Amino acid sequence: MEPNIRNIAVLTSGGDAPGMNACIRAVVRTGIYHGRNMFGVMQGYQGLIDNNINEMTARSVSNILHMGGTVLKTARCLAFKEDAGMEIAFKNLQDRHIDGLIVIGGDGTFTGAKRFGEKYGINVIGIPGTIDNDLYGSDFTLGYDTAVNTIIDAIDKIRDTADSHDRLFFIEVMGRDSGCLALRTAIASGAEAVLLPEKETSLKQLITKLKSGVTTKKSSSIVIVSEGNKYGGAYDIAKSVKRKFTHYDTKVTILGHLQRGGSPSGFDRILGSRLGYAAVNAIIKGESMQMVGLRGNEIKLTSLEEALHAHNYKLEDDLLEMTHVLSI
Ligand code: ADP
Repeated sequence: MEPNIRNIAVLTSGGDAPGMNACIRAVVRTGIYHGRNMFGVMQGYQGLIDNNINEMTARSVSNILHMGGTVLKTARCLAFKEDAGMEIAFKNLQDRHIDGLIVIGGDGTFTGAKRFGEKYGINVIGIPGTIDNDLYGSDFTLGYDTAVNTIIDAIDKIRDTADSHDRLFFIEVMGRDSGCLALRTAIASGAEAVLLPEKETSLKQLITKLKSGVTTKKSSSIVIVSEGNKYGGAYDIAKSVKRKFTHYDTKVTILGHLQRGGSPSGFDRILGSRLGYAAVNAIIKGESMQMVGLRGNEIKLTSLEEALHAHNYKLEDDLLEMTHVLSI
């Protein structure tokens, strides 16, 4: 017999990612389709503590599918890390008889959800939403595909100006400890080199590569720097390279938060819809402490424990080698 989960809340937490709105829409409408009462929590865990929780209808999520960001807003909430904060959050849910919680976010969000679920026995399902694509149990996280496309679009524009002036550009992209975003965008934009957190690339190697570009008459060079790499940010690397490599006018672009914004790609709209739909179906079947993810084009559940502690992204050496070969 199916457990009687009647009232389900959804929140977005941590870093926002394109596709979150498509996902919220899917969660709310799937729940309503199954006769559940659906609630939207504003500003992540902060809204649970502040009792900023609103009942949602199918119309509350009209016309949001194509929008970046999150209509439920997101926040980093330190109070939720404290037992006292969690207690208030639980009481606010209890007052509304909410017995299921769906959280959309990254590893911090899942850590909070896991603690909360263990402590109070509420059914919790996580949906991977982060542009970094760094969660175990899903081949793709929500927002990653859009971010790849946003970055490529920006690099294409930088390439135009780099080419016109014989410039060397260092472009810093997000990804925290994962070079997934950096490696993919380096391939798709034809970057001359990429510096990744997982891989030691010496400055000497980098300079050799750039010099060979000069010899083979490249009119511009683009180096993608992943924010988590060991030499520091793009500015630090540009400074070190400039001292030894005077051929080009050197410029730095930090893409920053524009990487998080924009209308979600078709892929992220579909992924958000699939994950939201699957999360509700799982929670009403009584699943808890699980993350819904996409693996080999199938929806699979992974325990929050595993999603948090296993390592998803193993840098593909063949892709790195290919990047090197294709940029001669
Ligand atoms: P992300 O989910 O994108 O990794 P954060 O790391 O900022 O983003 O985490 C989002 C939120 O999750 C935090 O602001 C906090 O409210 C909650 N959180 C993170 N770690 C914990 C924890 N150990 N216990 C309880 N809540 C946590």
